[in-house]
Amino acid sequence: MLRGVIVRGMGGLYTARTPAGEAYVLRCKKKFRRLGLSPLVGDEILFTPGEEEEHGWVEEILPRKTVCVRPPVANVELLLIVAAPVPAPDLLLVDRLLVRARQQGMDAALVVNKCDLDAALAGELSRQYARAEVPVLPVSARTGQGLDDLRQVMAGRLCCFAGLSGVGKSTLLNALTGLGVETGDISQKIQRGKNTPRHAELLEAKGLRVLDTAGFSLLEMEGGMDPVTLKDAYPEFAPYEGQCRFSPCYHASEPGCAVTAAVAAGELDPQRVERYRELLADVRKAWRERYD
Ligand code: GDP
Ligand code: ZN
Repeated sequence: MLRGVIVRGMGGLYTARTPAGEAYVLRCKKKFRRLGLSPLVGDEILFTPGEEEEHGWVEEILPRKTVCVRPPVANVELLLIVAAPVPAPDLLLVDRLLVRARQQGMDAALVVNKCDLDAALAGELSRQYARAEVPVLPVSARTGQGLDDLRQVMAGRLCCFAGLSGVGKSTLLNALTGLGVETGDISQKIQRGKNTPRHAELLEAKGLRVLDTAGFSLLEMEGGMDPVTLKDAYPEFAPYEGQCRFSPCYHASEPGCAVTAAVAAGELDPQRVERYRELLADVRKAWRERYD
């Protein structure tokens, strides 16, 4: 048996690449379907290669470090959340993605693209996320600014871009890997229809391992979340844990909340805390409705 990683999957056929860089076309054994399991792009697998032109067989899917449902990918280690001056940043989405990444033990970084258009945005976001332990990387896929720093952050980890459509994820992929990934330039969008989702593909080039998940701007994971655990995804709250009047405290509108006091004292970013409270309301609602 050989070991490899799934780089592509379509119509029941999977392509696995070995550490030596050889590609094999595989099918999946029936036992996986019985278990409700199917290989995802990013999965580390054991397989038997086929004879000559025959396809081989996926024999085993090795334990996953992380799993996303949409896009369906496994083992993402670093989530690169892309924001830009245009389209206007959606920081609630950024925070939602950060929570999902932390829930799964993925690292996350905020990539602020199109710095050629607005040099101030990255500074503003660095300030808002300073205590959230999120590296903020100013880049421009157009001018190449910051791409070397981004490459260094990405090196050695399976990375995935997420963020609003139009922020420049495909353009960044191209600039980083030199591969011809399809971007959302108007002419191409018209040709393929704006919302046609493509299949995820694992690209390996120039020492980077990155997922092309064009057609997906979000990242969804399975299952709901107990609202009381949401605050654990906010490292900046940690110094205040145990200092609120109530225990547990959701840091929502409880009297005597140390997080509220920290905002008033200028220690925590008020907007980030306000967005936390919006997300908390969403998570609570989803949690209450989970058996409906
Ligand atoms: P995606 O939907 O996130 O994959 O975004 P695309 O990569 O398709 O880019 C959307 C548009 O933004 C395209 O017209 C790109 O040419 C443009 N774009 C991407 N990166 C930059 C950049 O760094 N600076 C500027 N000015 N435009 C960019
Ligand atoms: Zn509190």
